[in-house]
Amino acid sequence: MARHRNVRGYNYDDDFDDDDLYGQSVEDDYCISPATAAQFIYSKRNRHSSFTEPLEEEVEDEDVNEEQDKPRASHTALSSVDQARLFSCLDHMREVLGESVSEQIMIDAAMQCQFDVPKALDLVFKQDCNTSMKPLTQDFPPTVRPAKGKARELPSMDTQSEIVPKVAKMTISGKKQKMGFDVPRATAEVNGQDATVCTRGQVLDDVIEEADSLQSQSPANTSQTSEDLTSTPSQGKSSGKSKRKINIKEELERRQGGKQLLNLVVIGHVDAGKSTLMGHLLYLLGHVNKRTMHKYEQESKKAGKASFAYAWVLDETGEERQRGVTMDVGMTKFETKTKVITLMDAPGHKDFIPNMITGAAQADVAILVVDASRGEFEAGFEAGGQTREHALLVRSLGVTQLAVAVNKMDQVNWQQERFCEVTSKLGHFLKQAGFKDSDVYYIPTSGLSGENLAKGSQISELTNWYKGPCLIDQIDYFKAPQRSVDKPFRLCASDVFKDQGSGFCVTGKIEAGYVQTGDRLLAMPPNESCTIKGITLHDEAVDWAAAGDHASLTLTGVDIIKINVGCVFCSPSDPIKACTRFRARVLIFNFDVPITQGFPVIIHYQTVSEPATIRKLISILHKSTGEVMKKKPKCLTKGMNAIIELQTQRPVALELYKDFKELGRFMLRYSGSSIAAGVVTEIKESN
Ligand code: GDP
Repeated sequence: MARHRNVRGYNYDDDFDDDDLYGQSVEDDYCISPATAAQFIYSKRNRHSSFTEPLEEEVEDEDVNEEQDKPRASHTALSSVDQARLFSCLDHMREVLGESVSEQIMIDAAMQCQFDVPKALDLVFKQDCNTSMKPLTQDFPPTVRPAKGKARELPSMDTQSEIVPKVAKMTISGKKQKMGFDVPRATAEVNGQDATVCTRGQVLDDVIEEADSLQSQSPANTSQTSEDLTSTPSQGKSSGKSKRKINIKEELERRQGGKQLLNLVVIGHVDAGKSTLMGHLLYLLGHVNKRTMHKYEQESKKAGKASFAYAWVLDETGEERQRGVTMDVGMTKFETKTKVITLMDAPGHKDFIPNMITGAAQADVAILVVDASRGEFEAGFEAGGQTREHALLVRSLGVTQLAVAVNKMDQVNWQQERFCEVTSKLGHFLKQAGFKDSDVYYIPTSGLSGENLAKGSQISELTNWYKGPCLIDQIDYFKAPQRSVDKPFRLCASDVFKDQGSGFCVTGKIEAGYVQTGDRLLAMPPNESCTIKGITLHDEAVDWAAAGDHASLTLTGVDIIKINVGCVFCSPSDPIKACTRFRARVLIFNFDVPITQGFPVIIHYQTVSEPATIRKLISILHKSTGEVMKKKPKCLTKGMNAIIELQTQRPVALELYKDFKELGRFMLRYSGSSIAAGVVTEIKESN
């Protein structure tokens, strides 16, 4: 049962077969956008193209009449400050309007409205794009070259309104690729209720282990894991073009040069010091040059947030820096002695827990950062804090190995007593949450001073009593999971964006299988097939990519409008099912409201978050034996194990947990609280 991220249910007493470990982090520099950033898709083409020389050349090339140069002349006559205001205004407008409106119309509106974004947008919306809006001149978006002498037809507003809901989840931001999803307003943090935790870890494990045992009994599964993958790609590869036949295992071994791939998520309460800790670690590992660090120091000082300089290495957006809060899941790559690590820095603030779930769903192992300062650890650990919820979420999403960075130890003079106090409180909880004692490692750190991060500490107050590994060594000691290259191809899209050429790109982590350029793929939903034109791994064009890789695929043969974040790309010969109704075994967390039939929830599943309702309560199960205790219960309450039927509004691509663990796990949230973890047991209605 070789499984990608099998670390989650893996028995570490078994020997690892090195041959089965492969992969290399291919993540360059991704991050996930905040849920609030719903945007239209728009091309990643250079924004400068309307204003700068290359465009002028292109315009000449295109033999566009001189009328079209007027607005350019009009805005280039602006002072440099006004030009900057114009560019900034256009950036904001482009985020909302995508490519639906020509650059020229936006320029005109921006200039008419004195670069006031809301007013300019209003102006564009109010006027009919083709008729009433009177541009100073006519122009064409640089990427859409009209046939000579013909004006490009702008999409009608009707088309736009159709497009909005489909693409609203996609976010793009130049080189930094973003993904995210919206928590519908009605269900976002309404009552500020604390995300709750289940204090019955063994029960949570039961859910997973029960499904494990189902898996081992399933004949279908046995056949799926048969061991004949070594040679040529076989999954629905029918592009017609002759492709190089590869031995994927050999290729993987060659590529990663002996290093194992590990996806690591950093979790913990807001202000525990996650970004500072990881930013400082990256700096110490040489991933941030001195000049850039100096720039962050100066900028953070200027902004009155000097202590956040290291956090700025990972907190990318202006809003994050201004608020001093991580909102996106920042992704970065670094290496240890034996591993290539893709690091995900998850937001601690509870408003961004959906983003954190997306990050955690892709993680193999986690670092839980807690603030050792007196009162602060308690605030993060007790009701209202995210320490417990995060730990429980990652465990529910399959992470079994955890390093706990007991951070800000400088604040408590590196006292052993405080370290022990924190670790014993946490240890008790983590055990209940389903972590084995032997898979949890505690490391005293200071993200700010950099102590015990990249090398062992020299501080005598610490070395007197702590002899364990520093953080980077602990990361290196994590056991890497086996990846499912032998399974049918699965990639859950975390970002969709237009590239410069004819196709478009999707990025995401390959959960299973492998692909080569020229392969045909199926996107589910919407059940559309396409062809891979190119594959990139951390900005480098490659011929193939395999399970565990965060890859970017350039696709042709399908309309980008049909592809959404959350689509699963799969092998056409062995597709994933898309459904709106499925049954699941769930574990109800410590949630005070009784869950009844018709209860509205948000399903968080890989990069998807989809509104759903609990259609039926099928049965309550015994926590340890899984026996049916009661059929058709009226309601479910905290700590219960149950089978329920869920109905989503739109189709979602799911797998049975017994077949694909990663694609068969989900979380349910309600009103800003995580209320249950579940595994898919039956797909009722496939599309
Ligand atoms: P996050 O929300 O968990 O990412 O926390 P940040 O990294 O943004 O840090 C929050 C605050 O704690 C910032 O002011 C940091 O400078 C401060 N901080 C982080 N790590 C340490 C530490 O080890 N010691 C001290 N004294 N302060 C720290």
